Amino acid sequence: MSRSSAFPSGTGPLGARIRALIETGGPLSVFDFMGLCLTDPEHGYYMRAEPFGADGDFITAPEVSQFFGELVGAWAVAAHAALGSPRPFHLVELGPGRGTLMADMLRVAALRPAFREAASLHLVETSRRLREIQRATLGDASATARWHDRIADLPEDAPLVVVANEFFDALPIRQYVRTAQGWRERAVGLDEQGALRFVAGTGSLDAAELPAGLAGAAEGTILETQPLANALMEELGARIARQGGLLLAIDYGYARTAPGDTLQALRAHRPVEVLAEPGRADLTAHVNFEALARAARAGGLRPRALTTQGDFLLGLGLLERAGQVGAGRSPQEQERIRGEVERLAAPQEMGELFKVLAVAGPDVVLPLFDGV
Ligand code: SAH
Repeated sequence: MSRSSAFPSGTGPLGARIRALIETGGPLSVFDFMGLCLTDPEHGYYMRAEPFGADGDFITAPEVSQFFGELVGAWAVAAHAALGSPRPFHLVELGPGRGTLMADMLRVAALRPAFREAASLHLVETSRRLREIQRATLGDASATARWHDRIADLPEDAPLVVVANEFFDALPIRQYVRTAQGWRERAVGLDEQGALRFVAGTGSLDAAELPAGLAGAAEGTILETQPLANALMEELGARIARQGGLLLAIDYGYARTAPGDTLQALRAHRPVEVLAEPGRADLTAHVNFEALARAARAGGLRPRALTTQGDFLLGLGLLERAGQVGAGRSPQEQERIRGEVERLAAPQEMGELFKVLAVAGPDVVLPLFDGV
């Protein structure tokens, strides 16, 4: 049976399943909808097609340029030294995608045997398909690397040096909408034609979650919370507080809690309707770094002042590194390198929207973040 509506909504096999779920059980929260779209074992976005790169749906910083992973690697080497060069330690990446960031980090780390030989590799990745790609990208290093489904499965016997690029944005969020009856959890229901649409669900917002100043917000105002991202950060914070180590999270997001709908779907580098093709488009939300920093503190760590991707990379010598690599190359190659630098660090590109949060124990003197 085909159904018509103004916007074709909820197409594809996962769309059909979600509509059936709603018909029997009522609206699905945005949180449950997002979770199904991203990680459903059969039709979830990360379980299926190839999302990354020029032929995929989006390009992340490590895929834009090798400079990104190399500079993060150089920072990790210096940060490990700032921890007192623990040996052994666990080098952990959350949501490694194609494995490019880790491969680029390891290339730099190979120059520092004290770091490389002390590190055991751990990749937290739910997608079996992406694990295979990561294994291939890592080459020889994959022989001793270990993959985990969950952060909770990481070993407890040594310090953790954790990096996460565009990991937290891929976790389901909750949305609340201000209605005449107060704040209600935003959910996905069905319209008269049976197509997916947003509705005000039955759940309400815990008063403690409402930021000061939003009590009188206009009807229709949307507020997002990220309980899963915060819980994972708190868990990691507690682990690092116990075991030693640090964490570097890079993602797009905002520095202070503010209302707004940041849920977005991307397919083939273009924004598409969030409800249009469940499981076929990448779904993400901007990260609330204020909440993430608070969660790290609750775990027992000190979050350092938030910086931007542009300032972080420039501070680590992006321009010098690009100049070094470009020296003696053809004008076309130099143009390509200039383009990569722009893309990563220019304010109108990834430089300002993307933020960098570093967290560690209160006494660690972190390179770049603690004035060294
Ligand atoms: N860091 C990579 C990829 C970012 S996309 C890059 O910068 O290119 C998000 C990654 O997180 C994917 O590898 C995805 O499979 C993984 N992921 C998403 N949700 C996850 C979860 N709950 N646990 C572990 N990995 C997850």
